[in-house]
Amino acid sequence: MALSSIWVVAEPSNGTLTSTSLELLTHARTFGATVSAVTWDGNAPALAALAGEYGATTLYDVGDLNGALPGAPVASAIAALVASGAPDVILIPTSYDGRDIAGRLSARLDRPVLTNVTGLIDEGGVVTEHPVFGGTLLVRARFTAEGPGIVVARAKSFAAESAGGPSATVVSAPAGDTGARGGATIVVSHVEERTGPKLEEAAVVVSGGRGLGEADKYALIEETAKLLHGAAGASRAIVDAGWVPYSHQVGQTGKTVKPTVYIACGISGATQHMVGMKGSKNIVAINKDADAPIFQIADLGIVGDVHKVLPALIAALKSRG
Ligand SMILES: Cc1cc2nc3c(=O)[nH]c(=O)nc-3n(C[C@H](O)[C@H](O)[C@H](O)COP(=O)(O)OP(=O)(O)OC[C@H]3O[C@@H](n4cnc5c(N)ncnc54)[C@H](O)[C@@H]3O)c2cc1C
Repeated sequence: MALSSIWVVAEPSNGTLTSTSLELLTHARTFGATVSAVTWDGNAPALAALAGEYGATTLYDVGDLNGALPGAPVASAIAALVASGAPDVILIPTSYDGRDIAGRLSARLDRPVLTNVTGLIDEGGVVTEHPVFGGTLLVRARFTAEGPGIVVARAKSFAAESAGGPSATVVSAPAGDTGARGGATIVVSHVEERTGPKLEEAAVVVSGGRGLGEADKYALIEETAKLLHGAAGASRAIVDAGWVPYSHQVGQTGKTVKPTVYIACGISGATQHMVGMKGSKNIVAINKDADAPIFQIADLGIVGDVHKVLPALIAALKSRG
């Protein structure tokens, strides 16, 4: 049976919806099913306009959580909604709050969760795709139990594209009494300082690896990224070495990026790194070893020393003005 109703947990962030939420709304509408969004934080009219633009016809609004962690109240609100009419599937972004909601919802509904999902297909019911073994294999799974299936999908698995739809209809979906479970509140939020675009959203990403030789040389990566109006990324090797913070890490245990241009500098191309950037539109690799695996997926490979190539690139970009 084809999917007829899909709900998407649309996470609010600074007055808008997170990019992963918009990706899931976009993909949900490709099934031709009725798409509804579930959100919170007391900004329903603006979020309904955005959710509608990306394909939702209804926006279930849990309301202002007054600083509470979303997991318990949002799971409670969705469980109450399901009791009066369940969708075929509930799509949830992979994020700290998304995972919290998914786990709690699974326990409340007694329904299974499929996580780490990067593909969703309708084959008479939802079929999910999951990369395993560092992205070298793709596993397919499907729910055999009664719905709704709960799917936690990874960022950048789908493209976010506006459908230009009208604002979604707002329906209040209060959390009800969550008891002690809803008692956790956010005391302080740390917003990481950054200049330039977010790593996950930048059109250009310049990443450095162990081939840079030492921590100070990461400045070459930052300068190149800045000149290209992009973001600076890193391999896990130099995150583990303490050269750059974890927030820069690209790969299986870091961020997934899909920029227009990805420049890998002194990165060998381990599968765990490549799984986080191989979806980039154009891949440029700079490595002194012509046999480095990264060249197998590079559109443009430069066999050379990063300490020579990057300063030359920086000088060329500067001279361009
Ligand atoms: C469970 C698990 C999860 C992991 N998750 C991640 C992840 O999310 N992201 C990630 O990146 N890794 C991850 N890893 C680690 C991964 O396996 C690699 O160890 C790591 O990506 C290697 O980083 P690197 O390419 O910077 O270093 P190396 O593999 O040491 O490669 C350095 C490269 O630099 C080149 N080089 C050296 N000097 C120069 C020079 N002067 N000029 C140009 N090139 C030069 C070398 O030829 C080499 O190819 C994970 C591993 C495991 C087991």
